[in-house]
Amino acid sequence: MDEHKEILEQLLAKQAELTRRLENIKQNITGGRSADSQEQAQELENAEVVDALGNEAQHELKLIARAINQIRNSTYGDCVDCGKNIPPARLKAYPFAERCIDCATRAESRDRHSS
Ligand SMILES: [Zn+2]
Repeated sequence: MDEHKEILEQLLAKQAELTRRLENIKQNITGGRSADSQEQAQELENAEVVDALGNEAQHELKLIARAINQIRNSTYGDCVDCGKNIPPARLKAYPFAERCIDCATRAESRDRHSS
């Protein structure tokens, strides 16, 4: 687990930041509604944007939670295809990488062929 200490710290910081941001977004959505209909329309539009941001943050939070779990279970950084360790440099650039570079390249060309 010490091995990924730096990434874990980054993930925890990011998790805290996103959680705070989500709280703000929720407060914006549930915040006061004005009586003016034009303003209401504007607020509705804002709420949609805010909703999209919220979904993005939630998606990222899920990835972060999974990575944190994996670090704690010592399965973080294992390639899901070949089981080898993903190089630390790759994990630093892509903390949510599930595959080593070889398998990722293979998976990408597989996706391209199937689509
Ligand atoms: Zn692999």
